[in-house]
Amino acid sequence: NNGVVIVGTGHAGVQAAASLREEGFEGPVILIGDETDLPYHKPPLSKTFIKDEAAKPQPLRGDAFYETNRIDLRLGRRAERIDLKARSLVLADGTALAFDRLILATGSRPRALRLEGSNLEGVLSLRSIADARRIRETSGQVEEVVVLGGGFIGLEIAATLSLGGRKVTVIEAQDRLLGRAVAPVISEHVRRRLEGLGVRVLLSTTLDRLDGDNGAVSAAITSTGERLPARMIVVGIGVVPNVELAEAAGLSIANGIRVDPHMRSSAPEILAIGDNASYRHWFSAADVRLESVQNATDQARLAARTILGHESAYEAVPWFWSDIGDMKLQMVGLTGGSSRQVVSGDPAENKFAVHHYLGDRLIGVETVNRPADHMLGRKMIGLGFSLPPDIAASGTEAVKAALA
Ligand code: FAD
Repeated sequence: NNGVVIVGTGHAGVQAAASLREEGFEGPVILIGDETDLPYHKPPLSKTFIKDEAAKPQPLRGDAFYETNRIDLRLGRRAERIDLKARSLVLADGTALAFDRLILATGSRPRALRLEGSNLEGVLSLRSIADARRIRETSGQVEEVVVLGGGFIGLEIAATLSLGGRKVTVIEAQDRLLGRAVAPVISEHVRRRLEGLGVRVLLSTTLDRLDGDNGAVSAAITSTGERLPARMIVVGIGVVPNVELAEAAGLSIANGIRVDPHMRSSAPEILAIGDNASYRHWFSAADVRLESVQNATDQARLAARTILGHESAYEAVPWFWSDIGDMKLQMVGLTGGSSRQVVSGDPAENKFAVHHYLGDRLIGVETVNRPADHMLGRKMIGLGFSLPPDIAASGTEAVKAALA
């Protein structure tokens, strides 16, 4: 029995190891990853860590956890190749680890910026604790920061650095912030609030080039020709899944490692979970690749069950949160194709909810500082309950009553 080898010590990999033991798996579990820190929570990096000199990484599990649960944690190791025939994983140092089952939890990496000046010192992106340390250190030495990309990570960073006293400009190519993720009313609300913090937001604008002196960035030049002096540029233009190991082994890839409802790749002894996995989602019947802690940990739990011989399919409710300054955004469901949006509450109070419908079907709920509505949304999406829009518009108590 060669047991299970897991590649990646992020949210998915660590949960998979824990779930294998919780589900009663007795064989060897090896968890390898190329980072050197004890596995940690990623969300706080953009929300607090980068502005707080004293902040420490928050471990996913205490260090005793791995030993107690007989999880052979090997940090600072990079997996280089899968030998499918031999059922072994070859590491960069040449070690070959035999497996019965291999779980790829390799996550994703920031999409690289490819334009003049993108290799200058001070052009950074945020994925790992190492990146966060670099951003924290650099931002301590600069006054002006340009954030490229008005998605969740970019805006969290913009708010955090602005609250930390930096002068921040956000450049976003689309005509609204969070354009692919939330209703326009939330995009507009977030823009106003960020501007209230002193963040400058440039919509429908791209970056033309970066200028530097002595190898370090000194200014961003926008598509409208404006020159924004900045000694630090944070690039948040999305991520790409880490599929190279799987691809070289001949596994099926389509915007991620393709998996079935049990998290099995096209080679059934190899499973893929988390940011790197693409699949047909039970809720929307669309092919997706989701980037969230919920997706990573629920898929990890399911992968452990699959390995133990359970045939349950993935049917977790998709949800996500983001903290941007004083706004807690919470999203549940998948709102692509939303044809009607019902707002309840008042954006002026920084507390409201948006219910999304596709025809008569409730397909998602987005909330700003309304956690109760988020939890009700999770319940409704889980039950497949389509709240009538007029009740959605009436507010939390009416929704609660409809569900009672
Ligand atoms: P990861 O956590 O990326 O872990 C993958 C690991 O595999 C990494 O350590 C990587 O270095 C390692 N690896 C890759 N290839 C190899 C290899 N060949 N050999 C060895 N190791 C390898 N989600 C939310 O739901 N809410 C939030 O508020 C939120 N905030 C976030 C803030 C930040 C700054 C970031 C970066 C992400 C945030 N996310 C948030 C997204 C969430 O963190 C990810 O969806 C989640 O980390 C995915 O888990 P994962 O295990 O699939 O990938």
